[in-house]
Amino acid sequence: MIISMRLHATREEIDQVCDRIREFGYKVHSIEGEERVVIGAVGVGDVTACLESLEALPGVEKAVRISAPYKFVSREFHPARTQIRVNGHEIGGDRFMVMAGPCSVESETQIMETAKAVAEAGADMLRGGAFKPRTSPYDFQGLEVEGLRLLRKAKEATGLSIITEVMSDGDVDLVSEYADVLQIGARNMQNFSLLKALGRSTRPILLKRGMSSTIKELLMSAEYIVAHGNPNVILCERGIRTFETETRNTCDITAVAVLHELTHLPVVVDPSHATGKRSLVPALARAAVAIGADGLLVEVHPCPEKAISDGAQSLRLPQFRQMMQDLGPYFKLWKEARLAETPAAV
Ligand code: PEP
Ligand code: MN
Repeated sequence: MIISMRLHATREEIDQVCDRIREFGYKVHSIEGEERVVIGAVGVGDVTACLESLEALPGVEKAVRISAPYKFVSREFHPARTQIRVNGHEIGGDRFMVMAGPCSVESETQIMETAKAVAEAGADMLRGGAFKPRTSPYDFQGLEVEGLRLLRKAKEATGLSIITEVMSDGDVDLVSEYADVLQIGARNMQNFSLLKALGRSTRPILLKRGMSSTIKELLMSAEYIVAHGNPNVILCERGIRTFETETRNTCDITAVAVLHELTHLPVVVDPSHATGKRSLVPALARAAVAIGADGLLVEVHPCPEKAISDGAQSLRLPQFRQMMQDLGPYFKLWKEARLAETPAAV
């Protein structure tokens, strides 16, 4: 069960609800936002009687039974889409969000040139890894703090918001000083101590689907972050491992529609890691817009042949510009479809 308290409910009202939940034999899990408190009741007991009793208490806005194993992120709990504000832009609202940039931040010239080009082409956010999760310990591990500093410089020059990966709970505070959105890579989707630390962060989180993870596991990981206090989670489909070898991963494009049914959180698609081939990126990007994703995370590099990581799947700067132009009519249709939705019933 989830109990949403009214705006500015008093301490006494909140405590009374928690006591009542315990009397019915449930454990209390509360999330205290600045304005609103949401309380989860977890365990086994007489749900119907408990709900009735809670709804009658002062300060309670609604008390609902959630049948899914993920509670706070489920659409049953929150039927309207969650909109996440990032420096004046809202993801999950009526604007399609494009995040673009290199796999890794490599040098000042590389990141500046890319940032300017993607900003001019219409991107909203600059991506670039400073801490890189690499399969081999001998591969480039990222410029780390120097990479973060370069991202900040690029933000100052272009006004683009920054999204970059954080790999360990010990780095959350450091990366948060530079990033507007914290990216959690596929390999860390089930790093539970990291997820708990992200729950304590005030930055929005982009959580990538693990390469062998089910949709339910992705949602359970998002639930960790929300249950630990951070409601601002964006989900990302970046392809999963299958028997197919023509592409680096297999994009589970259906996951976007499935997730939109199951959760109120925004969902973006990463067509770069999903395909591993730059020639396939624009087609998959069109599919992402057409299926109603909330945004794209795309790899772009000024000279992919020289990229330290993921050159084969990185668009060249003119290719990114062209892709954005070609997506224009799709963005228009996307927006019309969003605006036509009935506010809380999608
Ligand atoms: C990346 O975005 O560069 C990355 C490492 O992605 P993933 O975690 O999806 O492999
Ligand atoms: Mn990459």
